[in-house]
Amino acid sequence: MKRRIFSGARPTGRQHLGNYLGALQNWVSLQDEYDCIYCSVDVHALTTLEDTSSLQTDIYEMMLDWLAAGLDPQKSILFVQSHVPEVMQLYTLLGMVTPLGWLLRMPTFKEKVKIQPYNVNYGLVGYPVLMTADIVIYKAEVVPVGEDQLPHLEMARAIARRFNNLFGDTFPEPQAKLTSFPMVLGLDGKEKMSKQLGNDIEIALSPEETIERVMTAVTDPARQYRNDPGHPEICNIYRLQGYFNPSQLDALAVQCRSAEIGCVDCKTLLAQKINSALEPFRERRAALAAKPQYVKDVLADGANRAQVIARETLTEVKQKMGLI
Ligand code: SF4
Repeated sequence: MKRRIFSGARPTGRQHLGNYLGALQNWVSLQDEYDCIYCSVDVHALTTLEDTSSLQTDIYEMMLDWLAAGLDPQKSILFVQSHVPEVMQLYTLLGMVTPLGWLLRMPTFKEKVKIQPYNVNYGLVGYPVLMTADIVIYKAEVVPVGEDQLPHLEMARAIARRFNNLFGDTFPEPQAKLTSFPMVLGLDGKEKMSKQLGNDIEIALSPEETIERVMTAVTDPARQYRNDPGHPEICNIYRLQGYFNPSQLDALAVQCRSAEIGCVDCKTLLAQKINSALEPFRERRAALAAKPQYVKDVLADGANRAQVIARETLTEVKQKMGLI
């Protein structure tokens, strides 16, 4: 029997190159080896979202990207977190065994307080408990994470362990599947690619739009004029060439250092490579977008399948806690 993996992402709408090269391609490759459950965590999004008017569109657009990128509903369960409300019940019950001190000490909670001091809501404190409920309600054994998410997973393991100690063996302690997600920098060349920062390149853009976006990227500041020699090692366009144009990487470094190639040429080449790599994805996406009911059906089927597992776990938890 395959081991079960759970992973989730906030509904951020159309995905960008950072999402694609990081989580998405990795999730697709895990589908044959594991029993995969992938979730759009809309309730988590409420901890930081004040305007929720685009939430439904964001879920739909993100799912289109996930499906077009190769997540296969025949192999994986794809669903929206709030469509399986059992997870909210488990969240409440796990809250009863989670010491408040653990949550207040989480570095991510402290960061969020700094970022949104005007909105330190209860959900921010309880976030790791909800994340634990997301994982353990499906008895997932493995969670693909980047190193920055390890403290969250450690918390999930600690909560699962505490529950098991108090009420008997119930949850597997989820193991991290450490993945070397590439940290894709945005067009500013400084910060991680992010929709919020506006430094992203959406994978669903048209070829022309992609060229336009790539042309706005910051490159080596030392190259003020076409004949200035460049430093590819500090240039984000060069890094992106590494993902989309690896066979020409060494030659480009030489051409950049000797000013044989200008930044406009280099960016044009990169945009062409991105466009040709994403062409099959864009074709699949356009075909899926032509039948919007399909995405809704996938999500409804995913929620049904997820709910079967969630209900069973919740009943077991309630019995062990003496609630039924
Ligand atoms: Fe960057 Fe390419 Fe310009 Fe060199 S030529 S600085 S690698 S964009």
